[in-house]
Amino acid sequence: MITIENKLQCCGCTACAQKCPKHCITMAPDAEGFLYPVVEEQSCVDCGLCERVCPIQNPCDRAAVAQAFGIQTRDEQIRQNSSAGGAFYTLASKILEEQGVVFGAAMDEQFVVRHRAAQTREELLPLCMSKYVQSELGDTFSQVRAYLKNGRKVLFVGTPCQCEGLLRYLGGGEENLVTMDFLCHGVPSPKVWKKYVDAMKEKYGANAFRFRSKAVGYRKSAVAFETADGRLEHAETSEDEDVRFMPRAFYGLFSSRPSCHACAFKGKARATDITLGDLWHIGRYAPDMDDDKGTTFVAVHTDKGRQLLESAFDSVRRVPVDVEAYLKDDGVNMICSMTPNPKRDEFLRNLETMTISELSQTYLRQKQNPVKNLAKRILGAVGVLHLIQRAKYRFHTRRYVNSQK
Ligand SMILES: Cc1cc2nc3c(=O)[nH]c(=O)nc-3n(C[C@H](O)[C@H](O)[C@H](O)COP(=O)(O)OP(=O)(O)OC[C@H]3O[C@@H](n4cnc5c(N)ncnc54)[C@H](O)[C@@H]3O)c2cc1C
Ligand code: SF4
Ligand code: SF4
Ligand code: SF4
Repeated sequence: MITIENKLQCCGCTACAQKCPKHCITMAPDAEGFLYPVVEEQSCVDCGLCERVCPIQNPCDRAAVAQAFGIQTRDEQIRQNSSAGGAFYTLASKILEEQGVVFGAAMDEQFVVRHRAAQTREELLPLCMSKYVQSELGDTFSQVRAYLKNGRKVLFVGTPCQCEGLLRYLGGGEENLVTMDFLCHGVPSPKVWKKYVDAMKEKYGANAFRFRSKAVGYRKSAVAFETADGRLEHAETSEDEDVRFMPRAFYGLFSSRPSCHACAFKGKARATDITLGDLWHIGRYAPDMDDDKGTTFVAVHTDKGRQLLESAFDSVRRVPVDVEAYLKDDGVNMICSMTPNPKRDEFLRNLETMTISELSQTYLRQKQNPVKNLAKRILGAVGVLHLIQRAKYRFHTRRYVNSQK
């Protein structure tokens, strides 16, 4: 029977809960707002299935990167409404053309982020764009299994841990399944997101939230929403510190799940067919593609992934990318866990008692350090910044893991 003695050992993938033959595991939120499995012990028959499907206890086989590209869809409207270059929508459309089903994360009417299925191009649109909050998977793994049993092709997109959870749940050998993960900075708490949504609704009558609005360009893409009087309030341009709360909590590493700081799914090799990411330095490979509208880094791990990508070549602009150079410029999150902010636990403990403004004032005010910024620029220019960052992240991850024992 699954027991969570250390929260670093559970990424919340739901594989155990969805697999339990007695349906005696529920996913319940802890005080920080993250879901963990809770077993109703009287109904448990000690079959051990929940432990066997856990992707942290039993990691999947992983394949190296075979090829990598910078990709931009030729459909500029889709690109504008995607986080990076729109590779997800383009590849997902190919699955739909084969009467397949696509699973990804969308916001519901209450702005709760949940995984759901899409069977038409219209249904794909809400799945586009990163949502920087942990998505609720519900019973999507069993839905995937049902579609596969009926002979349908399925594309499942999610965090690396969600994808490995699904693969463990299914048990392997699914020819019709394609899985796609992404470089993963970590997933913030749904409770932090809800607090932000509620505060912005109250203050601005906020609606139509999006996490990566490109209204002021790809490099400045950030959370934005429409106000009751029809204005766009954008975290990059807003004068209100409260509007910047969500991206600051995310990038400042105050709000991620504990397991994200000792992530068991890092590495160039993946269990998925394809890995996506942001390619900020597209100019290094193709200066003519560097238009501040977004490019997706697409790494292929398997033949299935390669076939899907090649089927979409007509719909995209592409340029080959050197993976080692990408890791150096943009991709440190592919191989290293992010270090939590030293005040992360305190921030989350105060979530219920402090307002958004109080939390922003106390924890999220950004102090510029010109000496540190200059040192970073010099180290970057002589090509050693990435090595120092990797060593720093690895050191802090080890220290964090030891502190949680
Ligand atoms: C929580 C999170 C952290 C990320 N961290 C990084 C990072 O550190 N570095 C980096 O290069 N890229 C990161 N990405 C990926 C990046 O933001 C882009 O999604 C990726 O580059 C693909 O862009 P696109 O334009 O091709 O597709 P998009 O249109 O952005 O498609 C996004 C896909 O991700 C799925 N998705 C969105 N939100 C979630 C979620 N909360 N949980 C699970 N699946 C989701 C959607 O269903 C969709 O399939 C992260 C994404 C998320 C969701
Ligand atoms: S041991 Fe079996 S019955 Fe018990 S919780 Fe795990 S999967 Fe369910
Ligand atoms: S990582 Fe997934 S399978 Fe393992 S305990 Fe957590 S929810 Fe269950
Ligand atoms: S950082 Fe790791 S544990 Fe956290 S959501 Fe991403 S893949 Fe899962």
